Amino acid sequence: MAWGPHQTITRAALDVLPERERWEGVLGAKNLGALTNYCLLPDLRGKDLGAFYADDYLLIREMPMHVGHTMPTVETAFGPYFRRALQALRTETPENACRQLGPLVHFVEDVGAPPHAKEKCPHHKELENWVRGDQIGISGYRPRVLGSDDDAALAGLLRRIKGLVEFSKARADRALPLVSVPEPDQAKVEPILLESANESARVTADVLLTVLTLGLDGRSGGAGLGGTVTAAEFPGRNEHGARVVLLDTDYATLATAAKGAGWRGQYEFRDLPAGSYRVLAYRTASQFQILGPITLGQGRRVELNFDLKPTEPAGNIIENPDGCLSYLDPVAPDRWKQAAGGVWTSTAAWVKPGERYRCGAALKDPGTRVSFRFEARPAKDGKSPEPQICPLTLDGAGKGEVIVQAGDQRISVAVVVESTQSLTSVIDRVWVVPATGGPPVGL
Ligand SMILES: [Zn+2]
Repeated sequence: MAWGPHQTITRAALDVLPERERWEGVLGAKNLGALTNYCLLPDLRGKDLGAFYADDYLLIREMPMHVGHTMPTVETAFGPYFRRALQALRTETPENACRQLGPLVHFVEDVGAPPHAKEKCPHHKELENWVRGDQIGISGYRPRVLGSDDDAALAGLLRRIKGLVEFSKARADRALPLVSVPEPDQAKVEPILLESANESARVTADVLLTVLTLGLDGRSGGAGLGGTVTAAEFPGRNEHGARVVLLDTDYATLATAAKGAGWRGQYEFRDLPAGSYRVLAYRTASQFQILGPITLGQGRRVELNFDLKPTEPAGNIIENPDGCLSYLDPVAPDRWKQAAGGVWTSTAAWVKPGERYRCGAALKDPGTRVSFRFEARPAKDGKSPEPQICPLTLDGAGKGEVIVQAGDQRISVAVVVESTQSLTSVIDRVWVVPATGGPPVGL
């Protein structure tokens, strides 16, 4: 259910961006060009992308859960991701800032897809895929800045979005009779959807020019904060960044590093408001650390280094395995979801098909049932095979571990904790650790 030509629309918008060299000079041509990939982030929610998780940029304090991609829910995404994109351009590294533009660009493009603009639109699949990517292009279009300050620009953006929704709703209404007949003629539908794709590209170009103009206006003088994060090895995924968060604020970023044994990354903020902050660093397979409060002063840079201890047991690939991390929403553990019926599920972690994993838990409430759900890649028909579910047997003290061989085609594992209580009141911690052979240890 994805608007086919996201990447082509982004490229078309970048192609008409005024002062392209200026933006490339500040952000780097590679980072700006990578927007054609980052615009896909919202369709990759919950996914591990190697150097980072899609959720590192999707889940922000103003939008702590995944938002729907169609009207009317998608409308709630623009304010939060617009403000977050501006903040990233002003305070974070170019790499982080360009990744953080991804959700904004995606949702602007999405709302221009006819079946996203028209609420409860039938024939969704045809109406977002029957478009020729090679025909998308808006050469000659001159993008404009949508407002001279943040509030005016957001108001301008929302007006522009409203116009785009009207535009694409009308295209949906024109195309629907053509796709509803028994043997629809795709060639008759394509030019109608192309109009929507091109209008999406024009709005995307306006939005990009607006955030770059406001976000990189050269103002400076705020406070700087930077340093290193050393962390334990994240088995099989050691290229991952570490999250660095100014607690109880919207400021957050990712420390990045080269591959290597152990891990050491670098993070940098600039132009932060002066003030007092507690700072959190976290990386999968390490325990989080909170430092501070530290005081940041105008025009000064403070160096703050973190040393993250390994999880117990070491090499745990489950994010936030004790549920104690909750920087997005103080009453909900980060990277866990509780379904209405009272079942907690962790974010899925990447596994290798056929490999063995130590899967375990130490519980505060020994009566709680815990299982490990290994999922396979969806088949060619788009359907996901049945999950491989491994229940855990616990001893009297509420501890247990089982060695599981991930089946063929299994690519991820999530931990399922059956409880209507708060997560931290029932678990002490859960773990999935690649087994290097031998019997279970550490119990
Ligand atoms: Zn989407």
